[in-house]
Amino acid sequence: MEEIEKTFSKEQAAIEAERCLYCYDAPCETACPAHVPIAEFIQSIRTDNLKGAREIIQEAHPFIETCGRICPEESFCQSVCTRIKMDTPIKIRELHRYITDNTDPSENLELVPATKGKIAIVGGGPAGLACVRELRRFGYKPVVFEKKQLGGVPANEISATRLPEEIEKKEARFLQHNFVSEIKDIAIKSLGELNEEYSAIFISTGLSGELNLDIPGNNLDGVYYSRELLKRAKSGFRLPHFKRIGVIGGGNVAVEVASVLKIEDPLRDVEVIYRRGTKELKAFKKEIEEAIDLGVTFQFLAIPKKIKGDKRVEGLVVTRAHLGEKDTSGRRYPVPIPNSDFIIPLDAVVIAIGQKADVYFPKVEKNAKGLVKVSDDLMTNVKGVFAGGDIVRGASTVVECVADGKKAAQNIAKYLEGGKNV
Ligand SMILES: Cc1cc2nc3c(=O)[nH]c(=O)nc-3n(C[C@H](O)[C@H](O)[C@H](O)COP(=O)(O)OP(=O)(O)OC[C@H]3O[C@@H](n4cnc5c(N)ncnc54)[C@H](O)[C@@H]3O)c2cc1C
Ligand code: SF4
Repeated sequence: MEEIEKTFSKEQAAIEAERCLYCYDAPCETACPAHVPIAEFIQSIRTDNLKGAREIIQEAHPFIETCGRICPEESFCQSVCTRIKMDTPIKIRELHRYITDNTDPSENLELVPATKGKIAIVGGGPAGLACVRELRRFGYKPVVFEKKQLGGVPANEISATRLPEEIEKKEARFLQHNFVSEIKDIAIKSLGELNEEYSAIFISTGLSGELNLDIPGNNLDGVYYSRELLKRAKSGFRLPHFKRIGVIGGGNVAVEVASVLKIEDPLRDVEVIYRRGTKELKAFKKEIEEAIDLGVTFQFLAIPKKIKGDKRVEGLVVTRAHLGEKDTSGRRYPVPIPNSDFIIPLDAVVIAIGQKADVYFPKVEKNAKGLVKVSDDLMTNVKGVFAGGDIVRGASTVVECVADGKKAAQNIAKYLEGGKNV
């Protein structure tokens, strides 16, 4: 599948880089969870030193190919760019991507010898791989346990139109080749499975499960789950020739799966059905805009009540809602309007209402949602066992998980080296 966004040309990058004001205490750098020195890499673009620019980003951020494409910059670096006060923010992520697209990961890495202990990394997604790189740079031997494929959600689920396979593979291969001591193809479900061999453990298993929509008809033929569908789409599967598909949800995954289904067959109707309003959509702005450009439509303030059909999906019965007070998520809550039910005719329904954690690691303390609890240094209640990424934060972003991986590595090293700063 062809990528939707194109990379900057040299001329576009030069024009955008010229706009940077090189702020003192650059707010963009503080707002980037990985603290990429943004003004510095933009200065390198100005002098056409792209190799130097890559080194600057790569030093701070282990997952830069992926984030150059899919980082929600409007929530991070770009949201605080000083140029907003004058005209428009600098397109920082596009400049970040311009660098990664025009350079290769350095082959001449100078690493200290791996003389220190083995650390078990459970889950080889962005958080796990970020932790791996830092630990290896400190001289540890990171051993990765990965049940599926190195790279986590970006490798397995994010659509190829936003993150082409060769890019995500290039990144995972580079990290594996240079920083992973050993990779084991195993699902780890309890700490007991990791024997005395490991000096410390980092749990970064992400959120593998999906929330079910508990309404009648959710077992009919033609009902699908979004992440399962995205995984299958990434390995080449195409949905049958449904002409009208409803996607229930308002987050990134709902919008992503809707776009994938529309690209698969531009002639089919794909509608995102959401119980709150436009302002409450949790999906990133860029993704919503891309979905609208592709022709995805939205049905707001519609609460799913029943999936209609005999054996197969024929439609979705929804109740019209209005917005009430804010709930604990800070968003206004949908209140059903009496006697306002109506039917949306559909051939298939995709459920995309959220993700959940697997019930693993019984000795590790979790919160009510099953997310692992950690202290400020990312250690769990079990000594020497750290955790980070989505399994701690709930559904988040690649760059935040990378920040956790880096922080956990530093704290693991401190823990093992008796509180010394590394
Ligand atoms: C469809 C979708 C689209 C997204 N789009 C964006 C986006 O555009 N931008 C963005 O920044 N973020 C996006 N995100 C969020 C981002 O992908 C996640 O926040 C991030 O991948 C989480 O990283 P992680 O390392 O914590 O977990 P994961 O990426 O989930 O990786 C966990 C890894 O652990 C492995 N694993 C799980 N259990 C075990 C076990 N028991 N033993 C061994 N291995 C195990 C899994 O196979 C997986 O490889 C998206 C998420 C989804 C689902
Ligand atoms: S990683 Fe994300 S937040 Fe950081 S500089 Fe790149 S685009 Fe901005």
